[in-house]
Amino acid sequence: MSELTTCSNCNNEVTEDSDFCPHCGNLFKEAPPVHCETDLDQEATGVCIICQKLVCSRCQEVQNRRLFCPEHCNVQVEEDWALIVESRAAADVEMQKGYLESKGIQTTMQDFGLRLRHPGALRLFIPIPDYLRAKKILDESNELINLNE
Ligand SMILES: [Zn+2]
Ligand SMILES: [Zn+2]
Ligand SMILES: [Zn+2]
Repeated sequence: MSELTTCSNCNNEVTEDSDFCPHCGNLFKEAPPVHCETDLDQEATGVCIICQKLVCSRCQEVQNRRLFCPEHCNVQVEEDWALIVESRAAADVEMQKGYLESKGIQTTMQDFGLRLRHPGALRLFIPIPDYLRAKKILDESNELINLNE
């Protein structure tokens, strides 16, 4: 087992041998310098917590101390969960939840009925590391639904 240490950026626990923090994308200085995958002449400052692409101070998007690449800066994240589905159609959300769970992806549901901005909307979250896989699963299931119509 690797020793645990604390990320200097977000204070979450990380294993001592990791190159970056999986919670916020912070790149640890002990790691050898690496270059941004977009701006090849720039030294990377971290990774996008969704796709783990290396980003630099020029292209990174920071939200609540977490790093995102420009492609994923609109993904809503709470704690270590990413928002994957938001809808007022409860049956639709339940169906997508069941679909993700059948593929082994853990989900958690938030009822935003009491919040004025999205009355009655249900929000389905999945663990951040599963985001890309979950997105792909849902895109494929939507294609199947469209084919059947
Ligand atoms: Zn961190
Ligand atoms: Zn990304
Ligand atoms: Zn960059």
